[in-house]
Amino acid sequence: MKLGEVRGIKLELHYSTLLIVLMVGIGSASFYQGLTEANLGWQILTLFGTVCGLLILFSIVLHELSHSIVAQKHGQEIGQIKLYVFGGQAQITDEVKDPKDELKMAAAGPLSSIIFGGLLVVLLFIPWNLPIFLVGMFNYVGIANLVLAGFNLVPAYPMDGGRILRAYLWKKRGDMVSATKTASKWGKYFGYFLIGTGLLEIFVLGTLQGIWSIVIGNFVQRSAKQSYQQTVFMKTLSDIEVRELIGDDIHTIPAGTKIVDAIRNYFMPYRRKYFSIQKDGEIIGVLHYRNVQEVPSRMRRNTHVEMPMIPLEEIPSISEKMDAREALKEIVKGNAKEGMLAVYDDEDNFEGILNKQDFQAALFFKKDSDLSQFTQGI
Ligand SMILES: [Zn+2]
Repeated sequence: MKLGEVRGIKLELHYSTLLIVLMVGIGSASFYQGLTEANLGWQILTLFGTVCGLLILFSIVLHELSHSIVAQKHGQEIGQIKLYVFGGQAQITDEVKDPKDELKMAAAGPLSSIIFGGLLVVLLFIPWNLPIFLVGMFNYVGIANLVLAGFNLVPAYPMDGGRILRAYLWKKRGDMVSATKTASKWGKYFGYFLIGTGLLEIFVLGTLQGIWSIVIGNFVQRSAKQSYQQTVFMKTLSDIEVRELIGDDIHTIPAGTKIVDAIRNYFMPYRRKYFSIQKDGEIIGVLHYRNVQEVPSRMRRNTHVEMPMIPLEEIPSISEKMDAREALKEIVKGNAKEGMLAVYDDEDNFEGILNKQDFQAALFFKKDSDLSQFTQGI
């Protein structure tokens, strides 16, 4: 569900966010009932609940937008902001290069929540005759924003507080990966803590509300592990040149081969997604299995591989000296053809095709050497 665009940042709502509005709506309505101690009609309660629900949704957008705008100022590319039932996530494509930038980006979200929430709470202390409806609303939304900020500031990576912790450790140790490792551990522990609290709530206090702590705790500890792995993955890739990723093209299909034979003698036995097409000792193009699929079955007997293949010139090219992380970004951004990039050396000689699988293989083999210290322990 598209919501709109702010400074080129797309806002997207997942349908599960409507659940936030519903839950906040019910919670705030019962809060309002308790505050007024009057017997209010369902109309006024529904109105109160809806307004509060939407305001909380707005608060979350504001929080994420603050992260993104600061990130943008520091030269980060922002794809979009996605809102789920757990809150939001700003899709920031680049990893941060400097701990100071990371600190500012991480702090921006909670800071905006504190300012917005604080403002609403301050409005309550001004001696004016505020209608009880607004008093209830400012109270509920204000406090909720402060709680949101407080929760996000827990030093549990990848939550905001965890990012701040990571930035601090990174600055102190000068080592981003080791800082991420420590911050992720805190993330994992906090996740377990929430799960534990949830279980206690259910089995000791006997309230089903504990389910939420368990769900959120599980989410936090899993994202802690994943974010750490991703950091290590990206860091490893930035130390590798594309040249090291591309394998030797052992099985190339000679030009003039019929499609039906290419399927039988290459695609079936070797189970690869694509093969280079060779003519007079030179690679002239690539035949991807999707190209094969486009040829109707009855024509496969009479069609040569050159017909559906992608000519080499049409595959976006990169230098063999590009670092693997940059290359992966190109592929993720969609700047590749069928996920493939053509790799050339300094003299413009074609060196090979790079695709997504090559990255996994590289990481797998690197594990045996210097990577093992990173992938263990979290
Ligand atoms: Zn945040």
